[in-house]
This record gives sequence, structure tokens and C-alpha cells, in this order.
Amino acid sequence: MPQSDTSSTHILKPMSAVVEGKAGWSKSGKTNLFSLNRQALEQYVVSLGEKPYRARQLLQWIYHKGAIDFEAMSDLSRSTRQTLSEHAAIELPAVEFDSTASDGTRKWLFGLGDGNSIETVYIPEGNRGTLCVSSQVGCALDCSFCATARQGFNRNLTTGEIIAQVWLARHLLLKHRLSEGVDSKSSPITNVVMMGMGEPLLNLTCLIPALDLMMDDLSFGLSKRKVTVSTSGVVPAIDKMTAAVDCSLAVSLHAPTDTLRNELVPLNRKYPLRELMAACRRYVDGDRKKHVFFEYVMLAGVNDQPKHARQLVSLLDGFPAKVNLIPFNPFPGAGYERSGKAAIARFHQMLTAGGLLTLTRATRGDDIDAACGQLAGDIDDRSRRQNKFSAPRFGESGFDKSEAST
Ligand code: SAH
Repeated sequence: MPQSDTSSTHILKPMSAVVEGKAGWSKSGKTNLFSLNRQALEQYVVSLGEKPYRARQLLQWIYHKGAIDFEAMSDLSRSTRQTLSEHAAIELPAVEFDSTASDGTRKWLFGLGDGNSIETVYIPEGNRGTLCVSSQVGCALDCSFCATARQGFNRNLTTGEIIAQVWLARHLLLKHRLSEGVDSKSSPITNVVMMGMGEPLLNLTCLIPALDLMMDDLSFGLSKRKVTVSTSGVVPAIDKMTAAVDCSLAVSLHAPTDTLRNELVPLNRKYPLRELMAACRRYVDGDRKKHVFFEYVMLAGVNDQPKHARQLVSLLDGFPAKVNLIPFNPFPGAGYERSGKAAIARFHQMLTAGGLLTLTRATRGDDIDAACGQLAGDIDDRSRRQNKFSAPRFGESGFDKSEAST
């Protein structure tokens, strides 16, 4: 059950407090090419006096051949390379921490150069490799069971900072493969889920070009089914995203009624279930191939009772839904406990019997705090939420900050 001191602080920050990132921002003051999707890159090269096809060449160098040094881009003329080095940059974060869990899950802490760090997690599973990508430094939405929420919020990530996570993770994974003598051409990243730190739909301006790059054949080339945006339910942004880009949608539901959801996901007070479900229907829009993933964290005694299963079946009745049950991942001072195996199995069975496609997610990477809701990079908290909680951010959770710099 939630501790009284945590549940009383579920004050939803006004949306205006969430600063929209600038898509092309770069720390060097040059244009960060990771921030530009194909269309923007074409415009950019033209603005430098180059032909538009240079954009295709650049994308292939950066994303297919993994080059970030302009000098290595041998089919660009000397003067083009010179112009690019003067005006553009390809900016990578610093690897502050890199650890691999016993089940192969790998977590990185990437330093952004402004005192903030974010976390990116790789989850290998047979032929699949899923990268869990962050969209913000911290999170402004105070979901009561989430470690990132306790960190508070600092800022949105730029498109370049979102894309650099995918580029760098792939680069490091390929390097590791080579060091093990494996020479495979296939990409270790087959799926991207925007389920790291932050609420991606509160950073739409920077998210959309990043999704374009993830799905463009000239860059990462992932299919729309392999790129999933997870949201706590920012209703107007679901519509805006659907209008701009076609990708998979996951909704962090966690409760079948407004009363309970208001407590677990305070954003529900602004966009209640009726509005959220209507937005999900608009997303699917009668397309029989489309469905929405509904994530449901299993909290012992809070949302895991038979009555909740019945309510969930009735809420999602007739909707093309896939339900993902996520066993709660504890963190110090969370105030919740994970539902027992029997309770999860009973809940799962009741949903299935009610006609809902249901999957219970295996908990991955919890020995390195890389599981869902355990991501909490080092952030300069502008929302001052960290002061409200006594739970230590590092050390107790098994991650010693002093290791980060080694
Ligand atoms: N803000 C987005 C994406 C980040 S969270 C969203 O809310 O969807 C990714 C998923 O992990 C969400 O479903 C979130 O609710 C879930 N999660 C958060 N904390 C968790 C925890 N401690 N244990 C298990 N799942 C958690």
C-alpha cells in the first residue's frame, strides 16, 4: 500500500511547467546532425550550399556505416567535409556507467554534458533485442509507484539526445559482439520502446523527428510495429502523434477506474479514462491491424484483486487491446509491494477468460536496477521533488555514484 507521505504528494505539475525542448539544440553551438530527420537534413545541407542528395549520403554514413567523423566520409568532397566540420557536429553523450545484469540486460548511464544523466536499457531475448529509450531528464508526472518520478524533472531531451541513445547503444553492442568474435551483420536492436525515463508525449516536438529516424530506411529502418511509444495518457498528444507518425502505442493504464487511477497516475485527473479510451479508439480508427498495448503494473493489494480484473475486462471490452501485466519492481521507499505469483496468475487468467489478450512481462535486469520504473539517472531536479522523499537515490539501490566516473 502507498505510504501516506508519498500519496499525499501526488500534485500534478501544470503542463506549462514542462519545457518543450528545441529539436536542434547542440552543446557545441553547431547543428547536431542526430537532431535532423531526413527532411530537415536535406533542408540543412541545402542551406549550406550543398545538393539535397548529400543528406542521403550523410544518413547512410552515420546510421548504416556508423561513421561520426566527417573526415571518414570518403565520398563527400573535401570542401563539403570542411563545411560540415565548421557548422555541424554529431554529438554523443559520455558513457558514465555501463553494467550488464546476470540475464544479459545491459544498462547505461549516459552523461549529457550539463550535469544531467539519463538511462538507456538493452533487453536481449532470443532473436529480439529491445532498447528502452529515455525521452526526458527525469519526469514531471508523479506516478506513485515509479522511481523516475521521485527524481523530479529537469528538461526534455533533444531529438539528438534521443537518437544518440540508439546510435551509441548499437555501437557499443556491436563492439561487444566483435570482441567476442561474433561477426554478424544483423542489428542487435530489433525493437525500440520509449519506456525509459520521462513522458515521451510531453516532448512531442523532439520525439517525432526521432521516431522518423528510427523508422527511416536510410537510418535505423525499424518497422512501425517495432517502435513503441508508451504514455501515461496525454490525450491531445496521442492525437497529435497519430497525425504525424505511424508507430505502436502503449498506454500505462494500471487501474480500471478513475478513482484508483487518480491515485496511481495523477495525470488521470486531467485526462480521465473516458477521454483516454476515446483517444485510443481514435488511434486505432477502425484499422483491423492496429491495437493498443495496455501496461498494468501489479501492486499487491492495490490493483490486483478479482474485482479489478472484472473492471478491466469491462473497460476494454470490444477494444483491440493487448494487456501487459508488469510485476511491480520495488525501489527503496516505494511504499508498494509486488503482487504474489498466485495473484498475478489469477489476474492473468481472469483477463484471458474475459477475452483479453494478456501477457505477463518477465522481470529483467532487476539486479542492476534496470527494470521498468527503476530508472533514475542523475538529474538536476528543477521540480524539487527529490526534497520530498527521503529515499536515497544511489547506494542503497545498488548503484554507487562513485563508480560512474571510472
Ligand atoms: N511515461 C511513460 C513511459 C515510461 S514508464 C509511461 O508512463 O508510459 C514505462 C513503464 O514502466 C510504464 O508502464 C510505467 O508505468 C512502468 N513502471 C513505472 N514504474 C514501475 C515499477 N516500479 N515497476 C514496474 N513498472 C513500472
